[in-house]
Amino acid sequence: MSAASSGRTALMLNELHLPTIKRLAPEFAERSDKEGWPATRFLDGLLEHELAERAQRRIARHRAESQLDPTKTLASFDFAAVPMLSKAHVMALASGDAWLEKGATILIFGPPGVGKSHVGCGIGHALIDAGYRVLYMRTSELVQRLQAARQNLQLPQALTKLDRYDLLILDDLSYVRKDQAETSVLFELIAERYERRSILITANQPFSGWDSVFPDPGMTVAAIDRLVHHSTIFELHQVESYRGKEAARQHKIQRDNQKQKAKPARETAGTA
Ligand code: ADP
Ligand code: MG
Repeated sequence: MSAASSGRTALMLNELHLPTIKRLAPEFAERSDKEGWPATRFLDGLLEHELAERAQRRIARHRAESQLDPTKTLASFDFAAVPMLSKAHVMALASGDAWLEKGATILIFGPPGVGKSHVGCGIGHALIDAGYRVLYMRTSELVQRLQAARQNLQLPQALTKLDRYDLLILDDLSYVRKDQAETSVLFELIAERYERRSILITANQPFSGWDSVFPDPGMTVAAIDRLVHHSTIFELHQVESYRGKEAARQHKIQRDNQKQKAKPARETAGTA
């Protein structure tokens, strides 16, 4: 490509928003001229690169907007620590498809520290890799946002905005405060997405403890009905807290190190 024509080409590629082709065109043109490529090979090669990078940029955008903790992936999740959680089942859900299309729900219950948020985020990351859009939020934060929207008479619009996400991860549902429950925005969100758009919920307490999350028992039952209708429930109850286990492991390493350090001193003392 001559300098003049490559300058013009770059301008046109800017105008067309084709940054990958713009970057690769000079090198491709040079090789194509030198090796005598057919025109279709030159054109298809550039277009394929643009499409591939566009897909990558889209996934990176989706990951940035998701608010997912970047470290909580399925690759960094130790399934051996939670034997009652089927890895195969989680992996199947993590590929998306049927359950997302019918707006089904995943419910993950268990005491603090067992890995509920981690496995939930891990599923979220995998779905983003598969091309879906995911939003992670602490439930109380989302409720706060929706309450503010309701005060501004914008609740329907706020709920519609959330429709762009194939999956909404509501972490720590049982931490919704009583005064937040009274506004029922959470119920409206659940009813709005029912059988259309998926929700993944984590909670310390299974349903019996949800009375404080919704304004009245009738609404609690109605919310639970909708959530369990098409759902997968994982209960991570019996396991030892991973956080606790990890702390104990670190503690043991430290103790062993200290012992190791103390040993030569004692040995020296013994021979003195
Ligand atoms: P929960 O949401 O149930 O309270 P988290 O998912 O926040 O628990 O887990 C607590 C900490 O322990 C996090 O740092 C998490 O990454 C880690 N963790 C828990 N379970 C596992 C696991 N099975 N494999 C790897 N890390 C884990
Ligand atoms: Mg958590």
